[in-house]
Amino acid sequence: MNSTLSQTALKLHEKLTHRRILVRLEELNHTQWLSRNDLLALQRKKLQDIVEYAYQYVPYYRRIFDEVAFRPEEFSQNPESFSKLPILTKSIIKENWNDLLSTDPVRREQMSKLATSGSTGQPLVFMQDSDFRDSVTADIQRHMGWAGWKLGDLHAMIWGAPQNPPLSRRVRLKLINWIWNRFQINAFALTDETMIAFAERVSRKSPQILFGYATSLYHFAQFVRQSTFKDISFRGIFSTSELLLPNVRQYIEETFHCKVFDRYGTLELGGIACECETHTGLHTSMENNVVEILSNGSPAQLGEVGDIIVTNLNNKGMPFLRYSIGDAGAWYAGENCSCGRESLMLEKIEGRLVDSFYTRDGRKVWSGFAGAGFRCLTHPAITQFQVVQKSLDRMIVRLVLNGELPKSVEEEIKMACKSAYGENVIAELEFVDEIPPLPSGKHQYAVSELNHFHP
Ligand SMILES: [Zn+2]
Repeated sequence: MNSTLSQTALKLHEKLTHRRILVRLEELNHTQWLSRNDLLALQRKKLQDIVEYAYQYVPYYRRIFDEVAFRPEEFSQNPESFSKLPILTKSIIKENWNDLLSTDPVRREQMSKLATSGSTGQPLVFMQDSDFRDSVTADIQRHMGWAGWKLGDLHAMIWGAPQNPPLSRRVRLKLINWIWNRFQINAFALTDETMIAFAERVSRKSPQILFGYATSLYHFAQFVRQSTFKDISFRGIFSTSELLLPNVRQYIEETFHCKVFDRYGTLELGGIACECETHTGLHTSMENNVVEILSNGSPAQLGEVGDIIVTNLNNKGMPFLRYSIGDAGAWYAGENCSCGRESLMLEKIEGRLVDSFYTRDGRKVWSGFAGAGFRCLTHPAITQFQVVQKSLDRMIVRLVLNGELPKSVEEEIKMACKSAYGENVIAELEFVDEIPPLPSGKHQYAVSELNHFHP
């Protein structure tokens, strides 16, 4: 389909379904050029709106706001009071699931259920309303625009999908893909056979953009290098949901002759941040989410790694205020981005899809592995790694290598485990051909086998 036809189909779809993706996209394409102050003002206005709504319609927040004496009506005079709200965790969500839903019958009617695979194998189920859904989809399109994509242009995805969906779902997916002018391969079923078919289609149709999980993109790149499809290229590739290691990025870029855009988002919050065409850091989607980075409970300094806490500004049906995703990251410490967008930027995200680790001295430690102590794991010879905590004293570091890893780096890895998790910790290195993904198709970098004992 050509892009003009796709645009017409999208407009018609919007009219028939009362969705507002294109409206949101137009807004985002405008607001992304606002000054930092105007973006902050816009964000604060939306935050005011959602806290007022939460107090009125969401039983959990009415109770919590009263408990900590947070007054939504005072928030505009005293925005700092927002930090009084306790951090929302996955276990709090599970315990208070019904009380986190809006009691507003109109909003309830447009809500649909979603489940994320979760990093610990315990899925998180949540509800999304139509404002959230439309904003999330529009944000993806806005980001694809940063690579030169235009509404209606053909694009391809390596994305998770159920293996044997019922016919009705298959038909619906086909229709949605047709309207958006895109085609996809199932990331859960990347076999030689499916990849040949996908590569053939890519060769024939030349989609502008490829969108997928970091490890799936890497697998496809490996496949292409070994195949006869050597001339495949894109305008840009978006890597999401997983940590993008520098050497994996380079391999993908060299294979497909284009830049990789690192995009950070989760199913329950949508897009949180994305690299622009300058690739200096990740611009946060300030129109949709408020991002905080906390180090020991206080706001982290620029460049300092801390826990990423996000408040979504759209999903009134099930508001997540000050939600701890379970990832760590740092604010970008450089000057404003030369692309001209002034949104707050993240420098890096660490440890997506990881468990927390436990230590003999009773600490629960964030297991981010791309940071200062673990730079050794970004050595060019390492294409993939996984750290498994077997006990309080023993860890296994699995490594997939492409080239030779100097002995000194092996020692560095062992020492890094000691300094992060205790002198008692013995790290064993295991060299493997591959690290299988989770049943969800995503790759988990840090696994603690002790997590069962610390729910
Ligand atoms: Zn930029």
